[in-house]
Amino acid sequence: MWLSRAEPATRHERGSGRADRQVGPELAADRQVGPELAADRQVGPELAAVIARLILGVVLGAVCGSFAALVADRVPRGESVVTGRSACRTCRHQVELRDLIPIVSWVVLRGRCRTCRTSIGMTSPIVEVVTAALFALCALRFDEVIVLVAHWVLCIGLVSLSVIDLFTMKLPRRIIHVTASIGLPLLALASLSTDRPDRLATAMVGALGSFGVMLMLYVVSAGSLGDGDVRISPLLGLYLGWKDGAAVFSGFFLAFLSGAVVGIVVVAVRPAGSSRAIPFGPFLALGTISAVLFDVDLLGTA
Ligand SMILES: [Zn+2]
Repeated sequence: MWLSRAEPATRHERGSGRADRQVGPELAADRQVGPELAADRQVGPELAAVIARLILGVVLGAVCGSFAALVADRVPRGESVVTGRSACRTCRHQVELRDLIPIVSWVVLRGRCRTCRTSIGMTSPIVEVVTAALFALCALRFDEVIVLVAHWVLCIGLVSLSVIDLFTMKLPRRIIHVTASIGLPLLALASLSTDRPDRLATAMVGALGSFGVMLMLYVVSAGSLGDGDVRISPLLGLYLGWKDGAAVFSGFFLAFLSGAVVGIVVVAVRPAGSSRAIPFGPFLALGTISAVLFDVDLLGTA
């Protein structure tokens, strides 16, 4: 888009003569745009940059969502997430390369295995769409590349953890540790590149404080909070604290509020005798991502 702007379009040159010659070479090149592009230019380069970020976020998010779905599928089975091409769970036929395009392949195959036509479920496309949306929101929210990448890492980790918690009621520590050990150095670099070393300190306080409070609640609640919820809390507190102290409060408050609301509804509508516990991981992820991406300031400190 930007390249095409610089293309000379001599027939459409507006004006000529002295005024035009007085501008520098960059400006002169920028002026040589056709009438179609002139309209585009009025909207400003900001819109072009926003659209470029959105497209990048959606495409990269769909690809990383595909990886998050793979992690969510394989980690609970103890399989490697690095090696081995995905195969159909029914006919064991390896998934072909052309069937690995996020979202698109699922739509083309109508959610079925190409070989045996067994349904492959809705999890992958949903995870891909959600991750694409989160990546796009992050791309709009964070200007600094290192900050953006750090938060993309958080999204991949939390999406895969949420899916696993929904299906298995577990938050595998391997995924928490990998996410934190990639996220922490990125946030440290982001603190330096944004000239806010204080953010690293609040991130550490957020991580330790969240862990302490969740551990206390775990002991007090006597089983209604899972040990995985305690284990994931330093990761959440790290990112929330990196934003600011108020975000730590907002993130966990939103998690408990949304968890309580959904919990009440589920208990009210589910058949009598059903006592399956409700996973809290997805609510912790929702609260954290909301507080990190949007300025939810429940303490009114802003
Ligand atoms: Zn199959």
